[in-house]
Amino acid sequence: MFDFTEEELNRYSRHILLQDVGVEGQEKIRNAKVLVVGAGGLGAPVSLYLAAAGVGEIGIIDGDVVDLSNLQRQVIHFTKDVGIAKVLSAKEKMLAINPNVKVNAIQDLLMANNALDIIKDYDFVVDGTDNFPVKFLINDACVMAGKPFSHGGILRFEGQTFTHVPGSACYRCVFGVLLPAPSPPSNVMNILDLLPSFECF
Ligand SMILES: [Zn+2]
Repeated sequence: MFDFTEEELNRYSRHILLQDVGVEGQEKIRNAKVLVVGAGGLGAPVSLYLAAAGVGEIGIIDGDVVDLSNLQRQVIHFTKDVGIAKVLSAKEKMLAINPNVKVNAIQDLLMANNALDIIKDYDFVVDGTDNFPVKFLINDACVMAGKPFSHGGILRFEGQTFTHVPGSACYRCVFGVLLPAPSPPSNVMNILDLLPSFECF
């Protein structure tokens, strides 16, 4: 019933040995589709680990190119990649670490007018962005689409993470009081401007 190759069984053997994962769990991982928003300090390690773990289809969206100052923490990008699109740099390393996965490199910004369309193909969304308007945008789009997601945030020596599953509190429930006024760039404006019927649960 499972059609893992010898290579895959060997590659994922440390997962498969775990009682709570097993071959069935690895099959679920292989069938999963995860979208990573941002190929920077958070998105870089997340993307590498998702690929290494064998998540079957991984989307990564980012509009930036690699800068020399990124390399000290964004470990998916190498010195030779300076000047090229982050998503292409990331895709190359993800396929190098695990050629069994499919990587969708989306060189774009997640915006109010494309967020729902982009996330609809994925089972889970990881927010690796560094600004509040996009965090609210990801939250709102995922809640509307009924998708679970996980936010990450770091500042200097502090970090926070927040995971939402449909039917439970969302990022807006917790941090709604911090809702930023629509501000430049306008392409990350509050998605509520488009879809005012937002209700989290
Ligand atoms: Zn909520």
